[in-house]
Amino acid sequence: QKAEWAKLVNKKTTTQDTHHVELAANIGTPKDLDGVINNGAEGIGLYRTEFLYMGRTELPSEEEQYEAYKEVVERMDGKPVVIRTLDIGGDKELPYLDLPHELNPFLGHRAIRLCLEKQDMFRAQLRALLRASAHGNLKIMFPMIATLEELRQAKQILHEEKDKLQASNVDVSDEMEVGIMVEIPSTAVAAPQFAKEVDFFSIGTNDLIQYTMAADRMNERVSYLYQPYHPAVLRLIDMVIQAAHAEGKWVGMCGEMAGDEIAIPLLLGLGLDEFSMSATSILPARSQISKLSKAELESFAQEALTKDTADGVEQLVRSKYSQS
Ligand code: PEP
Ligand code: MG
Repeated sequence: QKAEWAKLVNKKTTTQDTHHVELAANIGTPKDLDGVINNGAEGIGLYRTEFLYMGRTELPSEEEQYEAYKEVVERMDGKPVVIRTLDIGGDKELPYLDLPHELNPFLGHRAIRLCLEKQDMFRAQLRALLRASAHGNLKIMFPMIATLEELRQAKQILHEEKDKLQASNVDVSDEMEVGIMVEIPSTAVAAPQFAKEVDFFSIGTNDLIQYTMAADRMNERVSYLYQPYHPAVLRLIDMVIQAAHAEGKWVGMCGEMAGDEIAIPLLLGLGLDEFSMSATSILPARSQISKLSKAELESFAQEALTKDTADGVEQLVRSKYSQS
């Protein structure tokens, strides 16, 4: 198997019936890039920038962020790099921001909510991203978007910073795509509206599953409810993909589910365009996808959507597409 995977490093990811999907990697720091390149990722689907902010005593400067983002886009050499703006809160804390203790941090003042309040911090990150966009194929992604107003406000702030940079003759890409994570059920349900105002979606199933099932992703006692193949989760994913495609936009997935061998046939059948996962999952996923037929999976995914339970979906996939 290892030898077979090694041959796929510099290959595109295509199904048996020559449908191309993009297999990208999730990273936390530029140090992860060796693994990404050695495993033949076609891009970065999620750069979790919060690690730049963690394990220190003060905010990283705009300059320090610019250097990190620039290094990533340059080393990816024109391949797409989706960089997510700060997603702090929930399971990720920043002691130096001195945020008030919350009873339900996963439902609290986190991610884009915090950034829209702490605008100096947000604007510095956006300037660093805009400057880095001149050095490669950088796309910006906002996390935890729940309403169109949040998206519009974040885009407005981005445009203000872009205009200011350009007014002072700083190089900024004019083609940079702006997208959102879909990880809150309201956003999945309202995807047709969001699709008109973004360039892409990336489905964050780690959070989307916990919010859909009301099951804390960190709590083992409710982990039996944390069901990626639950028909409700699959229907939300289906709605998001259809809504994006109706507007001619692409859809990725950057939660753990994107690299899951049971989920991959379903996601291909539902029409997902980009799968972003840990670097070590890329070659096994590319090998799996090369043996699948997109046309056949389209009707298979529709059949899966009619199942009553997560278990029913899983049994169906295993009966037809078991790898082992
Ligand atoms: C997600 O929610 O699926 C996601 C990719 O973001 P994180 O795991 O960083 O919350
Ligand atoms: Mg998330």
